[in-house]
Amino acid sequence: MGRGTAMMGPAHSLSGAAAWLGVGAAAAAAGHAMPWPVLVVGALITAGAALAPDLDHKSATISRAFGPVSRGLCGIVDELSHAVYKATRGPGDPRRNGGHRTLTHTWLWAVLIGAGASAAAVFGGRWAVLAILFVHLVLAVEGLLWRAARVSSDVLVWALGATSAWILAGVLDKPGNGSDWLFSGPGQEYLWLGLPIVLGALVHDIGDALTVSGCPILWPIPLGRKRWHPVGPPKGMRFRAGSWVELKVLMPAFMVLGGIGAAGALNFI
Ligand SMILES: [Zn+2]
Repeated sequence: MGRGTAMMGPAHSLSGAAAWLGVGAAAAAAGHAMPWPVLVVGALITAGAALAPDLDHKSATISRAFGPVSRGLCGIVDELSHAVYKATRGPGDPRRNGGHRTLTHTWLWAVLIGAGASAAAVFGGRWAVLAILFVHLVLAVEGLLWRAARVSSDVLVWALGATSAWILAGVLDKPGNGSDWLFSGPGQEYLWLGLPIVLGALVHDIGDALTVSGCPILWPIPLGRKRWHPVGPPKGMRFRAGSWVELKVLMPAFMVLGGIGAAGALNFI
């Protein structure tokens, strides 16, 4: 995630949170208004999930977020991504040395991760819900507070994540607070937890697509002779990541859009 080649963590996390607040507005308009804890927790999960696709890159925020555990996982995901790339490369796809910005940067990965989280939340019970919240809250802190999280100790960030996960799960569990939002059948509590995870990954991919190298978001759907087509706008319209556009235009825009989305979601507008 070197400067100039990808959006920075905060831009990914902010755009993820803004997207969830937008979904909240759309859900309210469609008659499925989110109780406020779903709006808040969903925005935090999306902010965290929007860092997750970079688990294929050693120097990304996420690979440092959980110490040796995430560093080890990062190595495995990089190898796996590279193997899948080589196995499914089309005649027009270039050779490459590592797995960065391949498998974990596709719509299919986003859907599988989200479905996996939903299944874990529904069948795994309270501890699975707490684990999902913990991981994404730690990532949200890393993404949204960034420099502040870097200067504090990892243990402090983990403690903050664990405490918040415990408190927020307690809030969501209260009747009417949203553990059964959208899916209200018996045994479907927390089925929605996969949605902010899918959304976060997709928003990350779109962010990467807007930067210089594009993103193979459509894999495995072939485009011409390529299966790993780096989707993105025409070269002249891509912005350099870490540039003033990101800091001075995009991040404030995400904050404003998120505010509008939250107002719509809570029926203030
Ligand atoms: Zn990325």
